[in-house]
Amino acid sequence: QVKERGRDAIEFFNTDMADKVSQQLLMEGDLRRALQEDQFELYYQPKIDCKTGAVVGAEALLRWLHPEKGRISPADFIPVLESSGLIVEVGEWLLKEACKALGRWYKKGLWPANMKLSVNISPRQFRRKTFVEDVSRILHEHPIPDASLDMEITEGVVIQNMEETINTMVRLESLGVSFSLDDFGTGYSSISYLKSLPVSTLKIDRSFVRDIVEDQNDRVLVETIVTMGCLLGMDVVAEGVEEEAQLRLLVQYGCHSYQGFLTSPAVPIEEFEAFLIK
Ligand code: C2E
Ligand code: MG
Ligand code: MG
Ligand code: MG
Repeated sequence: QVKERGRDAIEFFNTDMADKVSQQLLMEGDLRRALQEDQFELYYQPKIDCKTGAVVGAEALLRWLHPEKGRISPADFIPVLESSGLIVEVGEWLLKEACKALGRWYKKGLWPANMKLSVNISPRQFRRKTFVEDVSRILHEHPIPDASLDMEITEGVVIQNMEETINTMVRLESLGVSFSLDDFGTGYSSISYLKSLPVSTLKIDRSFVRDIVEDQNDRVLVETIVTMGCLLGMDVVAEGVEEEAQLRLLVQYGCHSYQGFLTSPAVPIEEFEAFLIK
């Protein structure tokens, strides 16, 4: 097939690939520097109770302000952190940062019992042999309120070895960590994972929520996911809620909580504290 397309196609393909590789290497260098020079920040997006409007938790999201290029989306740089292995170091920094924030909110009396801060854990980070020990050490160095740390994982975490994944999750649970299944519905095996993994929360991906007001099919999917999560005894969180009309439907379906621009994007720690005080 490649032969039929001829030499030009192959050369085009090669330069394209080469471009990608060199871009990736450039970004990798920039990310290494970012880590040394403290260019990363953790922002927090409140999770809101669908019925009462109260803050019931938050998700920590990584932010990078590049000195020349400005803000770069995590969607663009997280994959490079993953492929370069830098995610391990950044992930460790991030967990410490999240624990420090939890400790600080607790001391200020801003963090009620049962409230959870969620941190995204990438597959490479999760599968590292020393991950559980690393988390245990961080929790020792930076004590947090009981059961206040949640880890958002995706299917990518499970892909290699189900038994090993469950084993790691159970060990983390004994440290007080709970789990959310992130981007639910976007992968291939979401439903079978629900059956096997010790996850307490299900996060409906933004792509399903976006058009629920206009799209009957999306409405059916979201309602079904909410119902299934509830029947399995899980908490269900909707992502990317931007309009009142979307929220009204979620309330109608019995969804527990949501995140979205309707209430707030992810914001710096001081701004997030204003939500906790309210
Ligand atoms: P995610 O975990 O599914 O995070 C939700 C994304 O949706 C975030 O984008 C958030 O800012 C965005 N969002 C929240 N509410 C709304 C809304 O109402 N409308 C719209 N249009 N977007 C909304 P962000 O921060 O760009 O992160 C993108 C992805 O990057 C995350 O998806 C997550 O997979 C990854 N990521 C972000 N921070 C971290 C991190 O600290 N560690 C790891 N491993 N991955 C991270
Ligand atoms: Mg997430
Ligand atoms: Mg998500
Ligand atoms: Mg998502």
